[in-house]
Amino acid sequence: MTAAARAACVVGWPIEHSRSPLIHNYWLKHYRIAGAYRREAVPPDQFRTFVQSLAARGYVGANVTVPHKEAALAWSQPDDRARAVGAANTLWLDGVLRSTNTDVEGFLDNLDACAPGWEQNLGKAVVLGAGGAGRAVVYALLERGVGRVVVANRTLQRAADLRERFGARVHPIGWDERNGELDDTGLLVNTTTLGMGDQPELVLDVGRLPGHALVADLVYVPLITPLVRAAKARELRTADGLGMLLHQAVRGFLLWFGKKPEVTAELRELVEADISPPSQ
Ligand code: NAP
Repeated sequence: MTAAARAACVVGWPIEHSRSPLIHNYWLKHYRIAGAYRREAVPPDQFRTFVQSLAARGYVGANVTVPHKEAALAWSQPDDRARAVGAANTLWLDGVLRSTNTDVEGFLDNLDACAPGWEQNLGKAVVLGAGGAGRAVVYALLERGVGRVVVANRTLQRAADLRERFGARVHPIGWDERNGELDDTGLLVNTTTLGMGDQPELVLDVGRLPGHALVADLVYVPLITPLVRAAKARELRTADGLGMLLHQAVRGFLLWFGKKPEVTAELRELVEADISPPSQ
């Protein structure tokens, strides 16, 4: 396949909300690469057939989003990272169909960009949520050497499952215990859907966090979540969900189109305007 013929897509069900086409088509244009990136709405019962015929459809790879991230792992050859997290969000053809999970590096690269040196003298991290994104974040923190990761989840068993999966540095707690953990927390991460769109707000006593704490929210609609707003009001360092979304996109573009793209302020403004159009 020639570079000129290269195309990738994002596969999900539904898929209209995905910002990935905006990001990748921006980079294709910016780097003057003759390629294409499209949305593909694929229902769960057709996902396997779809990814197994990616090449025949003219694709060199794909991003995978809800609800297909676990299935993507099952129908590809995952790297260690995707296997450890239990979900894949990026596929590419390399003789066989390979997969990885770029939420891990997206999360870490965003923290590095927003709060360089954040992991030094961190002490404890508290992660809210134990779903797919929670697994990627816990894995990322352990990979970066964080010594104690407390996971608070509404369904306690899912937090306990993370200790089973990742080991004794993970400490599961019940959802109602979350505020009691905050006093000595160096990093707080929301990986739940609370605060997103029409979901209920995340209720948390941000006032109990120490002044050096870093607060990260994976939710990016709205751009400034109530959690990030509360942290900024206290002049805490913050890292938002849009930053992670942009950083997690980098490796797919590199794998498919052969260029490591940059996350720039211009790209961020473009996606911000799409999420939250300026009022007329
Ligand atoms: P998921 O697998 O469905 O997990 C959802 C999590 O939210 C679970 O821990 C769930 O707890 C918790 N939750 C839901 N409703 C709750 C409530 N009312 N009270 C307390 N906890 C509640 O979803 P996911 O894929 O991990 O995604 C989570 C969020 O991360 C989404 O907003 C997604 O957009 C965002 N995300 C962002 C990026 C990025 O690049 N910025 C990447 C990935 C995901 P239970 O286990 O008890 O159900």
